[in-house]
Amino acid sequence: MSENGPKYTCEMCGYVYDPNEGDPDNSIEPGTSFADLPDDWVCPMCGVGKEEFVS
Ligand SMILES: [Zn+2]
Repeated sequence: MSENGPKYTCEMCGYVYDPNEGDPDNSIEPGTSFADLPDDWVCPMCGVGKEEFVS
């Protein structure tokens, strides 16, 4: 089910980061847990940082 960790939701725009899908548009491979995202990763929808995401 969630072997790659929980999904995280952007509190600003509602975008959901799904570790099973990654973020291909930003070179994030499927299977990348939220914790393993680079510190400079930002929401692909609205551009806020990881600190604005909640699990
Ligand atoms: Zn967002």
